[in-house]
Amino acid sequence: MALIVQKYGGTSVGSIERIEAVAEKVIASKNQGHKVVVVVSAMSGETNRLMGLANEVQGRVAHGRELDVLLSTGEQVTIALLAMALQRRNCAAVSSTGAQLNIRTDNMFNKARIQNIDATRLHRALDAGKVVVVAGFQGVDDEGNITTLGRGGSDTTAVAVAAAIKADECQIYTDVDGVYTTDPRVEPNARRLDCITFEEMLEMASLGSKVLQIRAVEFAGKYDVPLRVLSTFSEGPGTLITLEDDSMEDPLVSGIAFNRDEAQLTIKGVPDRPGVAAHILGPIADENIEVDMIVQNVGSDETTDFTFTVHRNDYEKGMKVLENAVVDLGGGEVGGDPHIVKLSLVGVGMRSHAGIASRMFTALAQEKINIRMISTSEIKISVVVDEKYLELGVRVLHEAFELDQEK
Ligand code: ADP
Ligand code: ASP
Ligand code: MG
Repeated sequence: MALIVQKYGGTSVGSIERIEAVAEKVIASKNQGHKVVVVVSAMSGETNRLMGLANEVQGRVAHGRELDVLLSTGEQVTIALLAMALQRRNCAAVSSTGAQLNIRTDNMFNKARIQNIDATRLHRALDAGKVVVVAGFQGVDDEGNITTLGRGGSDTTAVAVAAAIKADECQIYTDVDGVYTTDPRVEPNARRLDCITFEEMLEMASLGSKVLQIRAVEFAGKYDVPLRVLSTFSEGPGTLITLEDDSMEDPLVSGIAFNRDEAQLTIKGVPDRPGVAAHILGPIADENIEVDMIVQNVGSDETTDFTFTVHRNDYEKGMKVLENAVVDLGGGEVGGDPHIVKLSLVGVGMRSHAGIASRMFTALAQEKINIRMISTSEIKISVVVDEKYLELGVRVLHEAFELDQEK
C-alpha cells in the first residue's frame, strides 16, 4: 500500500465527463490498496474567464486580495464536483479548500508562497478510508485572507501536500504523457524523457516550460518528493523527476525551453559613467518590475547602450520609467520591442562540454535568425530573437542537437 498524491490539471477536469473519468482513475488507484489525496485545478479556461471578469471591473490593474477571492472559486467548483462523482460511485470522499485544510501561505496576493501545511486533518481523513480532494492553487494567510499561488500553482499545492504527508509519490496528471525535449505543441518531433533531473526541470520551468510550475519543482527538490508527470488520457510511465545520477550518461542538451512572455527595453546613447546601470534599474525595481536578461555595450564616444528584458505585461510601465530616467541622466534615446521571445537550451551535460554555444548560434544563423541578446549559465544558454522565429528556432535547435533521438 502506498500513499499517493495525484494532481489533475485544467484540461483533465475540463468537463463533467472528464471529472467522471478522473473519479474512475482515482477509484482504480484506491482499489489497488493505495491511500489517495487528489489535488485539482479549475476546469480549463475557468481561471482565464475569472481574470477577464476582474479586468472588466478593474481595468488591467486587477490585483490583490479580491482577485484571489475570485480566482479561488474556480478550484472550489472542481473539488465539489469530483467529490460528488466519487461519492456517487460509493467511494468515500471529502473535498477541502486551501483554507479548510489550513494551507498556510505568506500574504503576497496572486503569487503567495506556501509556508506550512498541517497534515493532521489529511491523515485523519485518509485513515478513515476517505479520498481527500484538495483545491489546488490556493491557501490562506495568517490573517485568514484567501491567497492564490500564481498561474500553474496547483502543481505546487500537490507537491507541498505530498511533502507534508510524506507521500510515496506525487503524480502530476496532465494533457501530455510526460516531460518532452520541448513543448510537443511546437515541435512534433519532441521526445518524451523517461527521467529528467530536478536541476534541469527547474531550469526548464524557469525558462518558460509551463508543464510544471517552477515552485513545484523547487519544493520537490527541497523536500525530496518523488515527482512524476503522466497523462490523464493514456497509460504509460510518464517522466520521473530524479536527483542527479552519476551513473547516467548525461546528454549535452536535454531540452529546449521558450518564453513568449518577455519584452525588450533599450536605452541608447546614455552617458558612459559609473552608476548608470543603477540609475536605470533602480527606478525599474521601485516599480516592482522584474528584470530578466541585461546587456550593456562597451561604451564608445563616451556613451553606451543598455538593453534588458521584462515581462510583457510590464512593457508600457517600463517604457515610462525609462523616459523619465533619460531626463535624469541628461541624454539617451528610449526604445523597445514587445515582440521578442527567449529560446533556451538546457542540459547538465553542458557543464563539461565546450562548443554548445557555437553550435547553437551556427544552427540559428543558417536559418538567418538574428540573435539580439545572449545569456549563459552553467547548464543553460538563452538567446532573445524576434517572436516570428519562435517555431522555426525551436525546430532548428531540436534538429541540430538531435533531440529526437534517444541517446
Ligand atoms: P495542466 O492544465 O494539466 O496543468 P499545463 O497546460 O499547465 O497543463 O501543462 C501542460 C502543457 O505544457 C502541455 O500541454 C504542453 O503544451 C506544455 N509544455 C511546455 N513545455 C513542455 C515540455 N517540455 N514537455 C511537455 N509539455 C510541455
Ligand atoms: N487554475 C490555475 C491556473 O489556471 C492553477 C492551475 O491550474 O494550476 O493557473
Ligand atoms: Mg499547469
